[in-house]
Amino acid sequence: MKKCLFIDRDGTLIVEPPVTEQVDSFEQVEFLPRVIQNLAFIRKKLDYDFVIVSNQDGLGTPDNPMDRFTAINDLVMRVFHTEGVDFDEMYFDEHTPADNHPNRKPGTGMLRKFIEGNGTEYDLAGSYVIGDRLTDIQLAHNLGCKGILLAQNGSVDDCREWLWEQHNSDGRALINDCALIAEDWDAVAAFLFAGDRRAEVKRTTKETDIRIEVDLDGTGRSEIHTGLGFFDHMLEQIAKHGQMDLTIEVKGDLHVDEHHTIEDTGIALGECIAKALGDKRGIGRYGFCLPMDDCLCQVALDFGGRAWLVWDAEFHREKIGEMPTEMFLHFFKSFSDAARINLNIKAEGDNEHHKIEGIFKALARALKMAKERDIHHFELPSSKGLL
Ligand SMILES: [Mg+2]
Repeated sequence: MKKCLFIDRDGTLIVEPPVTEQVDSFEQVEFLPRVIQNLAFIRKKLDYDFVIVSNQDGLGTPDNPMDRFTAINDLVMRVFHTEGVDFDEMYFDEHTPADNHPNRKPGTGMLRKFIEGNGTEYDLAGSYVIGDRLTDIQLAHNLGCKGILLAQNGSVDDCREWLWEQHNSDGRALINDCALIAEDWDAVAAFLFAGDRRAEVKRTTKETDIRIEVDLDGTGRSEIHTGLGFFDHMLEQIAKHGQMDLTIEVKGDLHVDEHHTIEDTGIALGECIAKALGDKRGIGRYGFCLPMDDCLCQVALDFGGRAWLVWDAEFHREKIGEMPTEMFLHFFKSFSDAARINLNIKAEGDNEHHKIEGIFKALARALKMAKERDIHHFELPSSKGLL
């Protein structure tokens, strides 16, 4: 079965002019950054049909004459063609919102003939609608595809909030129909070519009950509740400075002490990151950083598949917040064992709070560097052939 990318035009392939929201002249034609090279990459490496689906209000009327539209669209298509990108079909709907016509996005009217009548069987569940508006994600829902939203009109986090607030025809939040909120076309190509890097780990013992979700390609969003305020604050650093989304829910035996909560969170977080990394193809593998406040903190790491921890940091207070300082070493040991990484941690300085916060931030930056993925060099970064 064939898969398809249903792609919006204005705001997705070419820039949509503000105010008029209509490309009326050749001077207004401006391509989105790196759209051509990424579509060429997808065309070459993956097997999707490319179909443009676009609402063009009043097409064929004096406000949007057909000959002008056709001339501009032909130019856009010629530019794509010179870079090896040809679209299999193009559908433009002329109705306005007031017409409430089934052909107008998010209606599927225009596409029914393409899907049902061209002799090719389409795997719609494996297909995507790519666009910059709510209606594109609604179209994905109506077609039984998943949506990819280009965050043209705000940050990825703003768009995520927005998709949570909007609902599709069956009353569920639209976020459920969106496979990816992409910052740009590089992120779209990386997602389609290499998949997402999300994982969930649940770990329940008599001492702790833990659920962790990670999205290595997130934006730094976190929702963390371990019952230990200072520990939550440290784990938030990993999300924020590691540019990954992190949800951590821990119910630990804090009536005994903090030990099991901190140790088991380290284990589960390590497992979750290792799971999300998958086969590790294309990653940077190594990372290091030396952030400073009054302290010098250094965390070097290797996603090499073997666990090792070097710890060279001394703490002289018994606790910071509710967190015993003796648990710092224990957390990083548990984490590196479970994630199967080499961690080399060194810190010096006087302010104990700065020192441990610096270590967590340096770990986050090291993780960010090491997890970076390059789909144009999608090999395992190892001469051994295994990480
Ligand atoms: Mg658009």
